[in-house]
This record gives sequence, structure tokens and C-alpha cells, in this order.
Amino acid sequence: MRPELSPGDKLTLRYFPEPVLRRKARDVVLIDSEVRRRARAMLEIMYEHGGIGLAAPQVGWSERLFVANLTGDPEQTAEELVFVNPIVTATAGAVEETMEEGCLSFRELRVPVTRPATIHVRATDLEGKIFELEATELLARCVQHEVDHLDGILFIQRISMVEQLKIKRALKELEKDYAQR
Ligand code: ZN
Repeated sequence: MRPELSPGDKLTLRYFPEPVLRRKARDVVLIDSEVRRRARAMLEIMYEHGGIGLAAPQVGWSERLFVANLTGDPEQTAEELVFVNPIVTATAGAVEETMEEGCLSFRELRVPVTRPATIHVRATDLEGKIFELEATELLARCVQHEVDHLDGILFIQRISMVEQLKIKRALKELEKDYAQR
């Protein structure tokens, strides 16, 4: 396992089965310039790999923060979201939906995951301001996927046994790549 990040370290995307992805992340205690630098670097890594969300453990940083931009377009900076210490609560009576998900830590792997279609989320932004929102559709999906990362839960743990069997070979390949690096 690689050591914890130090201030100023270059962030790099971490792939399954790197242990940091299974660890429950700690709260961010202080939103300082280093936290803001890392959030910016995470957005860049997310764009570079064609993602719409990225959680801190995916860059080896075991703290509760994730970034998102549902457009995936680096030009659309107004769509950028940063969630620090997010808390998700279920919306009463929310229906569940199954949707194909990918994860940058799993390269091209896509699996159908069932999750509530609507959630409530409360988090802090990079200015230290608390915000709350009702997320639906793709945002609800993204927030739940990313908050799972902060709890060390991966999307492959949210699928049926049948689906798990189907991706066995793909996971073996990822394990092999990881062992060779
Ligand atoms: Zn992911």
C-alpha cells in the first residue's frame, strides 16, 4: 500500500483493487488551500478520463470529499460541484431504478446498479458553506456512487450474484494489471 498523501503531492487515479478504495474515509476537518488544490486536481483527472464524478479515495486521499460535473465538459465550469463531508438521506417513498454505471477506478467496466431514484444530500462547499439539495436522475445516481466510495463501498458490491459472475473475468484482469504495476 502506498503511503498517505502529503501536501503538494501530485494526485493520480487509483485502480481496483488498490486497498485505499476499500477504506472508510475520514471527515475533512479543515477546508484550506490544500483541500481546494486537491479538489481542482480531481476535477482535472475526472475530465481527463471522461468521468462525471470522482471521489477522494480514487486519488489515494482517504477523506470525505467528491467532485462532479454531470456534463463531463471542462468548459462548463458552472456545472462543477464539490461535496465535502456529504450526508445522504433517503427521500420518503423514493422508487428504485436500475441504471448502467461505470467507475474510473474500473476502466471500461459497466454494470447495472439498482439505487433509489431520488435522494436528499447535505454537504459543505469549498468556501465552507453548507448546502442541501434534492437530487434526482443522474445527479442522484452520481452522488450515491461517490458517497459509497467514501464508505469504501464499490459499485461491484451493489450488484446481483448473476451480474457478479459476469464480471469475474474483468475483475481478474484488473487484479493482474494492478499486480504488475
Ligand atoms: Zn466510482
